[in-house]
Parts: sequence; C-alpha cells; structure tokens
Amino acid sequence: MVKAVVGANWGDEGKGKITDMLAEKADIIIRFQGGANAGHTIVNDYGKFALHTLPSGVFYGHTVNIIGNGVALNIPLLFQEIQSVTDRNVPMPKLLVSDRAQIVMPYHILFDQYEEERLGGKSFGSTKSGIAPFYSDKYAKIGFQVSELFEEARLREKVARVVETKNVLLEHLYHKPLIDAEELLEELHGYRDMAAPYVCDVSAYLAQALKENQTILLEGQLGTLKDPDHGIYPMVTSSSTLAAYGAVGAGLPPYEIKEIYTVCKAYSSAVGAGAFVSEIFGEEAEELRRRGGDGGEYGATTGRPRRMGWFDCVASKYGCRLQGATDVAFTVLDVLGYLEEIPVCVGYEIDGEVTTDFPVTAKLEKAKPVLKTLPGWKSEIRGIKNYEDLPENCRKYVEFIEGQIGYPITMISNGPSRSDIIYRKSPLKK
Ligand code: GDP
Repeated sequence: MVKAVVGANWGDEGKGKITDMLAEKADIIIRFQGGANAGHTIVNDYGKFALHTLPSGVFYGHTVNIIGNGVALNIPLLFQEIQSVTDRNVPMPKLLVSDRAQIVMPYHILFDQYEEERLGGKSFGSTKSGIAPFYSDKYAKIGFQVSELFEEARLREKVARVVETKNVLLEHLYHKPLIDAEELLEELHGYRDMAAPYVCDVSAYLAQALKENQTILLEGQLGTLKDPDHGIYPMVTSSSTLAAYGAVGAGLPPYEIKEIYTVCKAYSSAVGAGAFVSEIFGEEAEELRRRGGDGGEYGATTGRPRRMGWFDCVASKYGCRLQGATDVAFTVLDVLGYLEEIPVCVGYEIDGEVTTDFPVTAKLEKAKPVLKTLPGWKSEIRGIKNYEDLPENCRKYVEFIEGQIGYPITMISNGPSRSDIIYRKSPLKK
C-alpha cells in the first residue's frame, strides 16, 4: 500500500515531521520530485536536522530510503548530507537511488545564478540550486540520468555535445567562463563512484515491494501552490508537487496511492515572490515569524525570513482538492496560543466580488483577503494528547477551518517532535 505526504500550500507546512512520524510504520520512504532547494526540518532523539535530499525515513533502521526518478539529484550534496547525519550518530541509512533519476550538473547551479543576475529585479526568487535549469534540460532531453554515468563512451560523447551548446550561452548571453568538457567528465566520474553502491531499478524494486505488501511512503516537497500546473505560475517550482505525480516520480501505478496526507499549517508562510493574499506585515508578522515553527519561520535551506500570513481557507481548500486529500494533518497549532483573536482568510475579493475558489494568477494578484476573526485560546497546548482536552476555542478553530476547506482534519500537530500529535475522528472522514 502506498501513502503520500504532501503540502497543501506554499511548502514549509511541516511535512518533514509528519513523514518522519508515518515512516515509523513504513518500509520504504521515497522522494519523487524536487531537489535540494527546499528542506524538511525534523526533530527526533538524535537532535534537530534539516534534510534537503535525503528522505525523512533515514532516522529509522528499518526503512529503505529511495531517491526516485522524479528528483533533481545533486550527488555531492546527497553525500554531504549522509555524512552530516552519520556524523551525529545516526546509523548509515539504507539508501537506493533510481537509475533513471537525473543529475544536477555543476553548470545547472551556475546557470541558475547567472539567470537570476541577468533578470535582476524580475527574477523568480530562485534558491539558486540549479533546479530550474535542471528541469529545463530534462525536458529539452539533454539531461543526464544516473545510469548514463556508467556508460563511458556515451557519456564522453554527450558531455562534449552538451558543453558545446552551454558554452554558446556562457560566452554570448552571460559573458562568463566557459565549461571545460574534460574537467566536467572528471567530475562526473567522481559522481559515478559516489552513486555506484546505491543505484537501483526503483520501479521494479517497488513492484516487488507491493507484491510483498510493504508500506511505501511518498514524500512530497513544497506544496500545491508551487506546482507548475496548478500553482501560482510562474512563481512555482519546476516539478509537480502533487501526490498524483508520486506515481510518475517514483514509478508506481497511480491506483496504489491509497492515503494522501495533506499537510496544512495553522497559519500561512511562503518564501519567494508571488501573490500571497492573506499576508501580514510589520510587527504582527514579525511576532508570528519569531514564534512560528520550531525556532522561527526562516528557510531551512536558505535561512531567508519567510513571508507570514493568516490561515487561508481559499488556498487550502484548493490545495487539498488538487492533492486529493484523504486526511489533513493540521500542524503548528501550538504557535497560535499567544493570540487574543485569530483572523482567518475565508474568501478573496476580486474586482468587487467575493469568491472561495482559488483563481488563476492574474486574478489572484488582484485578490484582497476577506477575513473572519475567531477567538484565541490564550494557552499552551503542547503536551495535550487528546482532542477533547484542547481548549474549546482551539477546537472551534480546527472545526471552523475543517468546515471551510471541506477535507477531514484527522491529525493535529501541537509541537515539533514526533510525539506531539493528536489524532482526531473527523465527521468528514468516510
Ligand atoms: P516542511 O518543509 O513541510 O517539512 O516544513 P519545515 O521543515 O519548514 O517544518 C516547519 C517547522 O515547524 C520545522 O521547524 C518543524 O520542526 C516545525 N514543526 C512541525 N510541526 C510543528 C508543530 O506542530 N509545532 C511547532 N511548534 N513546530 C512544528
């Protein structure tokens, strides 16, 4: 059986924690999209970790952790990350890398930087990890699959061919140093040696695992609103963030995905540019940012302060629908305990009309939030284990939001660690 953990919003919803928790009862954890551009923060018995490439199951001895074909694989970063966890006494994780995963090349990272420089103020707010140039090359069919590292003659020929076109851009568009094909080939040999012990035909491995009734967990990065098709294009990421893409990016039959845990944070945050209707500013935002998450709302990879906002029912309803949420995990609820009153965005006003349907980007940019204010609960809820023991106003907040989004909130996270979780019976759960 296959489960997915995905985000309903802009990412940073707390997927890492939910994946880490569900990983306890899973056999295989697989990353199916994205790259090292975003991070998951996980707090467990070994300490606090920010993972960028490794699946969130690496802290358990019993799980197999897989980098699926849909991932943008930065090989040296993957190995640095393995080193950084094993240096902190985590046993060497069991890891497999899809032979069809494509490789983030050193020039992808450079092109990402050069393009941001060229665009200046009109940039997309890239994390400059090479992700957009990587996926552009993948679909332009000049990417390199991991398996190609092991075919020396083909590799040499392809490197020469690709370098030729890259150098034209470097010379005439960006006015930057050219790539030396021999040096690049050397670097790729290093990648080959690093990856060799882990390379695997992942879809065949997963097919066998399904026959053996193993539990497979798909781990998403970012959230619905960063999806290149259904998100806030063009301020999106370059690979699909939807659970449906898990089938493609891991190599699984779509009908095997039975449970889709869609993670929603109890307030909003976003990184990078783009419309963010329920955004707040000034001291109000600063206080939420400082108190948010576990140690503040700052990017796990970049350290950038995140943009903050109230919970957005319009975006989250849409986010859950596109994911096909079977369960909503409602996270970081404990952080809101300081507020006297909590505004929630319940609609968008666009050209004088109020809607609860998430619009296309041009309309979204005109949307103004319609806010409803709910009473706060003014207390610490960490440590509470049963839904009934939450303060009444806190339960009302959860139930109000569930009613607005229309998907069952069955898990409530009230703290950063594995054990800070409340399971709830939802009237919406069939
Ligand atoms: P991801 O990319 O979706 O995994 O999100 P992040 O890594 O940005 O996680 C959000 C942050 O919130 C991390 O620092 C987590 O440790 C933390 N976190 C997750 N769940 C909770 C929660 O319920 N309460 C609090 N206070 N922090 C949480």
